[in-house]
Amino acid sequence: MYQLSVTPYNRPFRQPLQTSQGEWKTRKGIIIALEDSQGRVSYGEIAPLPSFGSETYEEALKFCSQFSQGISLAAIYQIPEQFPACQFAFESALKGLTATQIEEDGFALSYLLPAGKKALEKCHYAKEQGQKTCKWKIGVFSLQEELAWFQQLINILPEEMTLRLDANGGLTVSEAEQWLKVADASGRVEFIEQPLPPSQFQEMQELAKGFQTVLALDESVGTLSQLETCYLQGWRGVFVVKCAIAGYPHYLRQLCQTYPLDLVLSSVMETSVARQAVFRLATTLSPHRALGFGVNHWFSEKSS
Ligand SMILES: [Mg+2]
Repeated sequence: MYQLSVTPYNRPFRQPLQTSQGEWKTRKGIIIALEDSQGRVSYGEIAPLPSFGSETYEEALKFCSQFSQGISLAAIYQIPEQFPACQFAFESALKGLTATQIEEDGFALSYLLPAGKKALEKCHYAKEQGQKTCKWKIGVFSLQEELAWFQQLINILPEEMTLRLDANGGLTVSEAEQWLKVADASGRVEFIEQPLPPSQFQEMQELAKGFQTVLALDESVGTLSQLETCYLQGWRGVFVVKCAIAGYPHYLRQLCQTYPLDLVLSSVMETSVARQAVFRLATTLSPHRALGFGVNHWFSEKSS
């Protein structure tokens, strides 16, 4: 048995994060601590993202409350599929009991720019941090404005830098085609992420065939079982995996051993607790693409 303690947290962004789906102002989550019979303590983080199919913060809190007398090893591995963020947190905490600290220095990160024109003022920070990849949200402003800013952006960015464009499912097929054309012509786009909503999987398959620029699925593959389904339905582009809401880490390792997946491990704006667990996973999975974790500048140090 492991003793469980639960600490909710509230962490506001420095400025709201804008996507095609709206604004996000505060990251709410839960830090769990597991204590084993020898008195060793390890932490895990539940950082839900219901818009990507995870449980809600309230559901996670309620789930944890049933283990106020402690949780067994068997129970940790029997967390229902509807609680993928809890699955991640509990298994990570368990593994953390015997893990060593991972240094982040060796990892390439993708630096998250603000949406819209603000990206033009901020993109030099990516270079200053030694990163070669930036990510920019699209589908937030009008297509014409964003296409114009995109041209300015690639003119400012050093030649060796590439861009990830993330539409969060907010484009139409015709808008996605225009972005893909421009991306192909620029040669500077690593991939376009989730151009269409998850319901338009077939349309994304079709789009992927017509252009050189790679497409990535993100919202479509919120959980690992969805990722496996999309692979089995023929998706051979990139998969963005938000590990902290995707389910058990051992399931992800297993999928990587079974299929040749092209992965980007990506942030859900978690604290250093889940972040550390994802970097630990990254050391075993060694994905060749930059991690979607260039996000620390979105938070001030303080949190409550
Ligand atoms: Mg995304």
